[in-house]
Amino acid sequence: MFDDSITPSSAVARYDAILIGTGVNGMFQLIRLRELGLSVRAFEAAGDVGGTWYWNRYPGCRFDSESYTYIHSFSQELLNEWDWSEHFSAQPDTLRYCNYVADKFDLRKDIQFNARVTSAVFNEAHNEWEITLADGSRARSRYFVTALGPLSTPVIPSFEGIDSFKGESHHTGLWPHTPVDFAGRRVAVIGTGASGVQLIQTIAKTVDHLTVFQRRPNWCSPLNNAPIDAEEMNRIRARYTEIFAKCRDSEGGFIHVVDPRKAGEVSAQEREEVFERLYQTPGFAIWLANFYDTFTDQTANDFITEFVARKIRGRVNDPAIAERLIPKDHGFGTRRVPMESGYYEVYNQNNVELVSTLETPIERITPTGLRVGGKDYAFDIIIYATGFDAMLGAYNQIDIRGCGGQSLKEKWAEVPRTFLGVQVAGFPNMMMVIGPHTGASFCNMPRCGEENVDFVTDLIRFTQTKGFSRVQPSVESEIAWTEHVHQVAEKLLINKTDSWFTGINRNIEGRQTRRVLLYAGGATRYRRKCDEQVASGYAGFEFR
Ligand code: NAP
Repeated sequence: MFDDSITPSSAVARYDAILIGTGVNGMFQLIRLRELGLSVRAFEAAGDVGGTWYWNRYPGCRFDSESYTYIHSFSQELLNEWDWSEHFSAQPDTLRYCNYVADKFDLRKDIQFNARVTSAVFNEAHNEWEITLADGSRARSRYFVTALGPLSTPVIPSFEGIDSFKGESHHTGLWPHTPVDFAGRRVAVIGTGASGVQLIQTIAKTVDHLTVFQRRPNWCSPLNNAPIDAEEMNRIRARYTEIFAKCRDSEGGFIHVVDPRKAGEVSAQEREEVFERLYQTPGFAIWLANFYDTFTDQTANDFITEFVARKIRGRVNDPAIAERLIPKDHGFGTRRVPMESGYYEVYNQNNVELVSTLETPIERITPTGLRVGGKDYAFDIIIYATGFDAMLGAYNQIDIRGCGGQSLKEKWAEVPRTFLGVQVAGFPNMMMVIGPHTGASFCNMPRCGEENVDFVTDLIRFTQTKGFSRVQPSVESEIAWTEHVHQVAEKLLINKTDSWFTGINRNIEGRQTRRVLLYAGGATRYRRKCDEQVASGYAGFEFR
């Protein structure tokens, strides 16, 4: 527990607020905490800012959100200065944007890089958090804000023999800073989620031979990306207010507006025309601007599922391979839709092989490659596109202890319990940015993330100006919010499907059963709930 005897408190650095994580939303949180006049120290495990965009450097990594909706909206100057060159920006551009923000607001002076936080313990006597880093150093603060990222803990399955492989191997979320040369190499990719799809369609252009090991296929849909020239950028810039307002009015923080009709209300021909238009529309339109009952009504979902299956059959030459690429265990959009640019056509190449590991799982990694169904495959490079310990992983990696030494990991062992996804009862003065059960967890991250940061900032401001030294939700608020989160989830087909949305990760012990990790009640309802708290003087919270 909090042990003054080990390090005299005078030897430990003290701040008003400690922030962990300096991705897109962490950086904004740092700016807002500074604006409150607080002394802030941010700890960042990476060597620089950017979060997701720092770590995920794999070939083909890019936005699936429109670039101009992913931008910070708080600074008109920043909006005036930054130009996007594509509708869906590639990772190097996005990382450049993050660096630009860090430089412009001189953020790095308050950030300690290569600083992995291992524990955070609340001292009830002093109303302070004590943070310990991997190197043993410590820091203390009144407020402890986590911006850890929902997908920041990469998971490599513990395949037998994994360390015996003599070639190169990488996880998409831990990509090296030096380029990986695929030319003339035999490459294996394990995993066909959003990361795998982006990587596969990109490296297929240069590899000697590519073997994709697919367990369960996903419903992928065209990204329809395009460059943005100077003139178009100026037109976009002139529309920023309108763009942000449109995102704000939508339930997912995107520019795509759901079709208010039920799928069964229109004729088969009209439905086909709508689907065709959405298939040709850039970005998530086919997912988010579809008929409004697509993800609550099985028959409605079957319509779009059948349409996309037909598209896959039309794009893949070999009917047997096409069937292997068509999901049979879930309907369209009930897992995250990977956006693609020529993904299905990759399987028409002679040097690309698709191996299904659904019935015959990967047996082991060998010194020369891997073994599936008794057959040995030889590779120079193995890529693990095997995903993340979503939402919970980053929290579980830190030994977070609240009042009475209660462990957050233990409290959340079955399901996360929070109030508004922002605070946890028994963990005073700890605030989460895009934690489990926030509105921002199922939303265009920067759009809802900004609102999340502003709510956290206002809560701290309120606590400070009223002279309180502690804030935490009441147990009743936490119970009511957790019930509400579960209740809204029940209606969605998404919650009847295995994916990281529902907390499933078969590579991690104890993650074989579904749990609700995201708030699926919509961004506008979430905002209303937050606004009610502000208007009521934070009635759901307890102050001391
Ligand atoms: P993911 O969606 O969780 O996909 C992981 C893949 O690895 C799945 O195909 C999974 O198969 C497979 N896999 C895992 N363990 C395996 C094993 N032991 N044997 C065989 N296959 C295995 O992870 P991701 O692709 O990294 O994407 C995660 C999330 O990151 C996305 O949903 C998205 O939210 C975000 N992302 C965003 C962007 C963007 O905006 N541009 C790009 C990439 C990622 P199963 O499906 O059978 O489990």
